[in-house]
Amino acid sequence: MTLELFTVGEPIADTKAPTDVPVPQMWEERKFRARLVNPANRRRLSVIVVGTGLAGGSAAATLAEAGYRVKNFWFQDSPRRAHSVAAQGGINAAKNYRNDGDSVHRLFYDTVKGGDFRSRETNSYRLAEVSAAIIDQAVAQGVPFAREYGGLLDNRSFGGAQVSRTFYARGQTGQQLLYGAYQALERQIGLGNVETHGRTEMLDLVVVDGRARGIVVRDLITGQISTHLADAVVLASGGYSNVFYLSTNAKGSNVTAAWRAHKRGALFANPCYTQIHPTCIPVSGDYQSKLTLMSESLRNDGRVWVPKERGDDRDPRQIPEEERDYFLERKYPAFGNLVPRDIASRQAKNVCDEGRGVGPNGLGVYLDFTDAIERLGRSAIEAKYGNLFDMYNRITGEDAYETGMRIYPAVHYTMGGLWVDYDLESNIPGLFVIGEANFSDQGANRLGASALMQGLADGYFVLPNTLANYLADGPFPKVAADHPAVVEAETAVRTQTEKLLSINGTRTVASFHRELGRLMWDLCGMERSEEGLRKALDRIPEIKQEFWTNVKVSGEQGVFNQNLEHAGRVADFIELAELMCVDALHRNESCGGHFRAESQTPEGEALRDDENFAYVAAWEYTPDGTPPVLHREALEYEYIHLAQRSYK
Ligand SMILES: Cc1cc2nc3c(=O)[nH]c(=O)nc-3n(C[C@H](O)[C@H](O)[C@H](O)COP(=O)(O)OP(=O)(O)OC[C@H]3O[C@@H](n4cnc5c(N)ncnc54)[C@H](O)[C@@H]3O)c2cc1C
Repeated sequence: MTLELFTVGEPIADTKAPTDVPVPQMWEERKFRARLVNPANRRRLSVIVVGTGLAGGSAAATLAEAGYRVKNFWFQDSPRRAHSVAAQGGINAAKNYRNDGDSVHRLFYDTVKGGDFRSRETNSYRLAEVSAAIIDQAVAQGVPFAREYGGLLDNRSFGGAQVSRTFYARGQTGQQLLYGAYQALERQIGLGNVETHGRTEMLDLVVVDGRARGIVVRDLITGQISTHLADAVVLASGGYSNVFYLSTNAKGSNVTAAWRAHKRGALFANPCYTQIHPTCIPVSGDYQSKLTLMSESLRNDGRVWVPKERGDDRDPRQIPEEERDYFLERKYPAFGNLVPRDIASRQAKNVCDEGRGVGPNGLGVYLDFTDAIERLGRSAIEAKYGNLFDMYNRITGEDAYETGMRIYPAVHYTMGGLWVDYDLESNIPGLFVIGEANFSDQGANRLGASALMQGLADGYFVLPNTLANYLADGPFPKVAADHPAVVEAETAVRTQTEKLLSINGTRTVASFHRELGRLMWDLCGMERSEEGLRKALDRIPEIKQEFWTNVKVSGEQGVFNQNLEHAGRVADFIELAELMCVDALHRNESCGGHFRAESQTPEGEALRDDENFAYVAAWEYTPDGTPPVLHREALEYEYIHLAQRSYK
């Protein structure tokens, strides 16, 4: 690796997990050692929460319930429109209702192994430990999880696990869980404990005397720019998959809140860890602006296959059994169709690269329910996945009860995010980051149904404890509205907004976004190579240069202007893309979703290099033109043996 792309700084470490006790006792111990805030004092402490998805919504509701003064921000019209509402398949929890050998330790093991040994043991253990409480909380709120005949909560399986631990509400689990969190939030809004700021976008972080003390926002309806101050700031702003332009995320999902915090000093960890989901509806043309997920839960009953022969374009129903290749079942008999997402995606790509892909452009494989329908009956399949089959039918015009669904991998989730310690606090004191916006628990590959688990674990159970420990030192000195840090941050936001509107070039914001996304998909997507990443790193600065001299942002500042919103987000995506490629290039190994062509086993599986890369890469921002600084956090495995993953 040549050194011009980055420099190496001091190592970092999490200092909050009480590693003097065994991992199963750590969370209890941390809670015990954490300082508390007496209920009467909580009323004097204020917290900004950016986000109302499962992470932000649950955190804002819980903190308000505890008695803190909460200010909640989001950019959609309603808190219920956060991207979490789209989550389909389910949420994991180590309840062992099926009595099939599950336990906290097994969920912990599956998470660390699924993440290809690139997550912290301490955080992953706590996630597994807290998981069961989430289900109790959601049930108490009235979340209508699917039930078995006898009335117990039902479970299904997700990838990377041999037990059934996924709780679900048909194919709308995120929606139902979000409504639960939203009701709790609304209650607190009604009681006057949460001040709401919808249709408001955070555009900068205010750091005073080294502590996060506020945010600068733009009202998306009036264009008004203002600053809000508090004793602590919580970012729950979601993931950044839309750097690829096409992804399964909501169109509005973006990296701006996290990126602006990064530019104020928050380290950004493992940006190159991106999850490509194997079962999405294939791209159908250049006009497309979004991709649609077909939930992983479908792999419980659907079988993935392609024709054995290249170029076989017969109707799938005409292709006899012996001429089909159920490639996941063939290659991974132990896990079959339920191998983790990174593996299923890569294998789908491989068979398409061999010329055995199906559909109009050969970029598709079948997910076939014929056997399941024969075995269980159509009505059973309808009851489990009906809304997904309907969605597929509306988008493709095909009936998946009659013929195999055509699916292909697509960008879905980002494991990277702002670096946080065990307390979910970034390296900027007072800035906490939860949910998909942080990097903390999922390693290099997240297992299905573990994002909802993490968002709600963070918001309902972890943050309320760890934030209290921080706030026990508060209230912090009042920050004046004309404090230099406030003036500087607000001025920076105004200047950038004016600059974007003044360029008046000839290229649309969307065209930059599309070009960037295509480049990232081709060169920093499912497979990465040194040559490709270097090519991307040559091109991205050119895109950035052209963006800032030739972008056309129409409309004005003082009004509702979605073009301006999009421009600010794309500006951040361009900078993030560069860091993602640097991270991907420096990590000269394959692990989980990060597959380097140069580092694979003879069977084509991801080949880790534990000796050189068993660390979290936490990047420090440096101003334009100077390379980012890499801070390494060493990963140690005491409870789970480091091994090459095998799902065979
Ligand atoms: C189609 C789909 C299906 C999925 N299904 C599952 C599943 O079945 N199980 C599972 O575990 N995971 C699933 N996931 C992943 C999961 O949905 C997400 O990881 C999770 O919902 C993220 O929650 P969050 O609260 O961190 O962020 P989000 O839900 O993305 O919420 C972000 C919030 O931050 C706000 N925000 C962001 N930036 C700003 C800003 N600058 N200023 C103000 N507000 C801001 C937004 O308004 C929003 O309220 C799925 C993902 C997709 C795309």
